[in-house]
Amino acid sequence: MDDELSMYLSRVGLTFPGLETTIDSSDYVLFGVPFDSSSSAFPGSRYGPKAIRDVIQGMELWSEYFGVDLEEMRVYDAGDLAVSHGDAAATANTLKRAVQKITSLGKIPIMIGGEHTFTPFAALAAGADSLIVLDAHADCRKDYLGNPLSHACATRIWVDSGGKRTFQIGIRATSREERDYCKEKGIIQFSPFQLQSDSFMKSLTDFVRKSRSLYLSIDMDAFDPSYAPGVGTPEPFGISPIDVLRIFEAISGANLVGFDVMELCPLRDPSYSSSALAAKLIMELYASKKARLTRSGGGV
Ligand code: MN
Ligand code: MN
Repeated sequence: MDDELSMYLSRVGLTFPGLETTIDSSDYVLFGVPFDSSSSAFPGSRYGPKAIRDVIQGMELWSEYFGVDLEEMRVYDAGDLAVSHGDAAATANTLKRAVQKITSLGKIPIMIGGEHTFTPFAALAAGADSLIVLDAHADCRKDYLGNPLSHACATRIWVDSGGKRTFQIGIRATSREERDYCKEKGIIQFSPFQLQSDSFMKSLTDFVRKSRSLYLSIDMDAFDPSYAPGVGTPEPFGISPIDVLRIFEAISGANLVGFDVMELCPLRDPSYSSSALAAKLIMELYASKKARLTRSGGGV
């Protein structure tokens, strides 16, 4: 691994496939952020990265939806970030350096978490001008229980730190303060009840077309708890995994500069269904990009 990167990340036993990929031959560099200090309801997302790596070992590397073989997925697993438990600011600092390095190598970072707090830092370090977030929550509190570096503040940190454009999908649990803030800042928001409407796809396509550099973040609690019970703050009436495949398809032509899957809490996922879904999201995102490039005649 790159010398500088090995200061921030250490490799782990079981890695995310493709196993044969070296950092030089990769298109994406995946890493875990095993940190959950601000979890408000149920902690345990620090074990999310491990669960994703465990569950993928038994899964077929094939995308039925996109028709893409994933045996040679060019994803390099760089291991886990050196987190400082209880210190989100220090962890965010290390994260920024790791993401800047990955981006400077011409690779796209894929972060697996871990709490959602780190998304804005990764998105900004990757040079994103636009953020699409799938989440049950707006994550636009000024602070939560006095902590401004909480997962309940993630999207607000992005906006307040200069993130220009924001599109939220799956939102259904907000405070009055958050609703006022989102309106004031012009954050585009669609609830799960609006995803079948024409205006949703039109708005999403339009947002993607105007994005120069896009970061995509998935908080696992965007899904209905029947699909993904393994989260710290479950919310009923969520989106379905098939909704997300359509979203991936709609954004596959974007200049993607980073991607994450956050808030997976394996302690609340005894059947591993949420972990399997989280692993699959990474594979399908990869497949959506590859299918698009194959159609347009380019390599990956
Ligand atoms: Mn969130
Ligand atoms: Mn959430």
